[in-house]
Amino acid sequence: MRKPLVAGNWKMNLDLAGARKLIGELRAGYSAEAAAKVEVAVCPPAVYVLPAVEAARGSGIAVGAQDLYFEASGAFTGEISAAMVKDVGATYVIIGHSERRHTIGHLEDDRMINLKVRAARKAGLTPILCVGETLAERQGGQTLDVLTFQLTAGIVGHALGSEADLVLAYEPVWAIGTGQNATPQQAQEAHAHLRAELRRLAGPVADRVRILYGGSMKPENAAEILEQPDVDGGLVGGASLKADSFLGIVRAALATAT
Ligand code: PEP
Repeated sequence: MRKPLVAGNWKMNLDLAGARKLIGELRAGYSAEAAAKVEVAVCPPAVYVLPAVEAARGSGIAVGAQDLYFEASGAFTGEISAAMVKDVGATYVIIGHSERRHTIGHLEDDRMINLKVRAARKAGLTPILCVGETLAERQGGQTLDVLTFQLTAGIVGHALGSEADLVLAYEPVWAIGTGQNATPQQAQEAHAHLRAELRRLAGPVADRVRILYGGSMKPENAAEILEQPDVDGGLVGGASLKADSFLGIVRAALATAT
């Protein structure tokens, strides 16, 4: 009932030739039969979104941006709007990634993330809203409260009518880029909590919204995570930069798809 989505977050990696080559390799390994069962997306750096859209055309591989700015236009040097991302053919945008919440210069807060989610949808993009606890929050027993807060704040004023309005990504901060993934049980607990909270906030559409797991997902650990009932795919960083490993995760998603 929920079509799994495996999305690659390339972060600030690859060059133009490498981006085109990787998409070419993904095209070769992603058949129409697979595309009917599992959706695949890549999220390159902003300057490579248009070339990625061109390279992926006709393959069923969707393209997303890694961020946007919530204002429509104006004096916001260095930023890109939701309409611009849409204009070049992207369909997804990652919002509130933990590296933007916790690592990169101007640190994003939940209000900014909410404005971005709303701007994305208004422009016709599907936001991939990232939520997740830090190691200190997990050790302090605050994981579920953090998830509730980030989800609630992230979707305030954002009308949810269908699965195109939102994808959620549970990304425990301690698992991103560390090689240490959440256990399948930890992932399922967080995903089930997010779905229950989404149902409380938005109603039955929660059963159609996909909740991706992100955090050191690789072909070796993907199957046991993806087979959890509330895990509907992956947001994949490091392992999305090589066709072999990314397609290995897509195959694991295919094995769990109905
Ligand atoms: C990510 O960047 O969203 C991510 C999950 O990274 P990694 O797979 O490298 O942990």
